[in-house]
Amino acid sequence: METTTNSTHYKVTRKFTSGILEGLEHTEISTVSFPVGFECKQPIGGSPYVITECKPAPAPKIRLVCNECGRKFSVSPNAADPQCPKCGGVDWDVL
Ligand SMILES: [Zn+2]
Repeated sequence: METTTNSTHYKVTRKFTSGILEGLEHTEISTVSFPVGFECKQPIGGSPYVITECKPAPAPKIRLVCNECGRKFSVSPNAADPQCPKCGGVDWDVL
C-alpha cells in the first residue's frame, strides 16, 4: 500500500451540542484533522458542535463510468491511469 503525504484523510465525527441538530452525530471524510474535544461554538451557517472522533481514514474512492461499455467502477484517487475492469477501456468520465 502506497502512502503519500498529500493524500491523508481523516474520519471526523462531530456531535452537535445545540440548535436544531442537538445530540446528532455527523461523520465525514475530511482532509483536515481536528483535535478531539475541539468545540466549535459558532460555525458559519451551522449548529455548534464538538469533535468526538478523528482518525486517519483511506481517501474516498472516485466513481467513474466507462464510455466504452457503460460499466461503473471506483478507483483510488491516486490511480494514475484507471482502466475499466470489464473491457479495459481507458475512456471514462467521472460520475
Ligand atoms: Zn468498459
